[in-house]
Amino acid sequence: MEQPTFEAYIKKFDGYLQKYFPPKDAWTPADEAVYKPHDLYRIPLKEAEDMQLRSLKWTFNYQYTNNKMYQNFCKERNVSPSDIKTTDDLVKIPLIPDTFFKDYPTGRDFALWLGNIYTGTLPKIVIKQKDPTFDEVINAFNETGMVVSYSSGTSGRHTFIPRDRRTFNISEYTIVKSAVAMIYPLWDYSMDGMLLMPNPKRTNVYAGKVCTIFFDAIHDVQVAIDRDISTDLIRMTMSGEKGLKSSVVQYFAKRESAKMVDLIIRWLENHEKTEQKIALVGAPFILAFVMEKLQREGKGFNFGERGGVATGGGWKAFEGQRVPVVEFRRQVEKVLGIPEKYCLDLYGMVEGNGWMAHCPEGHYLHMPYSYYKGLVLDEEYKPVGYGEWGRFAFLDAAAYSYPGFISSGDKVRMLEHCPVCDRPGPVLEPEVKRAAGEDIRGCAEEVRRMLSSDLSSGE
Ligand SMILES: [Zn+2]
Repeated sequence: MEQPTFEAYIKKFDGYLQKYFPPKDAWTPADEAVYKPHDLYRIPLKEAEDMQLRSLKWTFNYQYTNNKMYQNFCKERNVSPSDIKTTDDLVKIPLIPDTFFKDYPTGRDFALWLGNIYTGTLPKIVIKQKDPTFDEVINAFNETGMVVSYSSGTSGRHTFIPRDRRTFNISEYTIVKSAVAMIYPLWDYSMDGMLLMPNPKRTNVYAGKVCTIFFDAIHDVQVAIDRDISTDLIRMTMSGEKGLKSSVVQYFAKRESAKMVDLIIRWLENHEKTEQKIALVGAPFILAFVMEKLQREGKGFNFGERGGVATGGGWKAFEGQRVPVVEFRRQVEKVLGIPEKYCLDLYGMVEGNGWMAHCPEGHYLHMPYSYYKGLVLDEEYKPVGYGEWGRFAFLDAAAYSYPGFISSGDKVRMLEHCPVCDRPGPVLEPEVKRAAGEDIRGCAEEVRRMLSSDLSSGE
């Protein structure tokens, strides 16, 4: 079959995903920066810079105007929308430390806390329980069409982010568009997919939830973990909590994962006999388990250029037993016969709607620079230049329902240009690390106090 041009390829892809597009007459500068470019990683620099400035100015003004909490935060720092005029001014936009989103109360207060982060007018939320769990509160929010989700943190402390449908659509659309652009020309609607994640319909974990779009992007998707995953279960398994309940959970988790590995191997065996294109998408550690078993049994596959692997969300969380990204790609090529250029990692955060995606040529993490500006900060939270290590922060124009100007606990190095490929925008080094220590505490504590005093003084 003849290879489609990139433009035809993306147009076809967009055709399947129209329900993720807002109506064109309602596009904001942020929507324009997300939906208009055919390839988010190949926009000419000048054009992207204009889009970035326009979209971030618009969103900063929107957040400032519609989120009382963030407005107070900005006033405290003497910054207002009129201060942001040029690209150089963007670094003045006040950043919220990610730890703020981990600092929540329980029960009904948790619902209030979520409501305070939310930008704009909340839909009417009905919570039936007297002392609701986190999941009960989240489900009550999500009944209204919102998508409140959370991250699985290693400390057992979660990050909760309230997204409205529009923001969540962007997050979903860009994650799959990022991968599809980078694996060109592999994507095809008629592909079969294996989702190495909990069923998105049965979890509120963001990394799982955001994969819902996978079901619309290709025609058939199998799910590796098809059971309810609650915050408690994740906290217990991640923190290795002791106690009867958690050892029972661990036992089931172990038995479930053995079943899951077998299910994936059967799926691979079935597809080996066909000509079907396949995509394995999700947490790398799951595929690592699968490849380990295959190797132990001396088995392997040769999918060649009809197979692709897209991973994400798993490297940080499983630091203890991590497989280095480079080694993982070699394994994929060796055990599954899928070439390294079709084995790509994506880096994103529950707090943001921008996805850094590996380029097939060099596996550097490219940034979607038309609506998302990455920053690297030093110990004093001041931006540093290209080539220096520091804390990752970002300005995300695509966050409507909460302020997406956030500093993270991840350690990165940003380069002005990819050392390997010819895509124009900035990149991060292929592997992202967790910043060491508690140096963030001081600043986070200060912010928390300010914000919590705002919470208690309010309506
Ligand atoms: Zn590159």
